Amino acid sequence: MSEERLFLPREIYEEIIAHAREGYPEEVCGIIAGKGNRATQLYRAQNIADEREINYTVDPHTLLKQVEFEERGEQMVAIYHSHPVSAPYPSATDARQAFYPDSVYIICSLQDWDRPTMRGWRLVQGEPRPVDALPEGVDAVRGKWGFWARHVPLGEGRARYDLWWEENGRIWAQEVDVREVELIVEQ
Ligand SMILES: [Zn+2]
Repeated sequence: MSEERLFLPREIYEEIIAHAREGYPEEVCGIIAGKGNRATQLYRAQNIADEREINYTVDPHTLLKQVEFEERGEQMVAIYHSHPVSAPYPSATDARQAFYPDSVYIICSLQDWDRPTMRGWRLVQGEPRPVDALPEGVDAVRGKWGFWARHVPLGEGRARYDLWWEENGRIWAQEVDVREVELIVEQ
């Protein structure tokens, strides 16, 4: 089991589900302020991604709210988004755009509409490095970034995404560490 935990008040948990359902069939997203491993306040965001049924991007205005809550001694403890039809597991695109190693990535799945499931993840990107070639048998990931990805399960709620993309005439590789964070819903 995961060692890390995030405590979510019941109303924040319910609000994520309500938001996910309202936004269906598109993905919705938002950010959550808190202290340490306790969530205190949810801020809904606009999903400004081009392909909102399979991707999300938190709008910059909402990200700026961080300044507001950091002034009162809180941090962005989590970023949430919904998966309208897939499992609450980070996609290759989620790993590719996981720029906040200090935030928990909460994913709410509506795969079973009547019983949404929510899981939390820590996604930590390694340093990109140039490589000579793309390995064989890796999957191309659709979307505006156009990259390649391989998912490597490591057991016990851990995994790794290996990512590759082309930039400045070279191929770059990056590893993204995936670890489950236990979500504890408080009554
Ligand atoms: Zn996702």
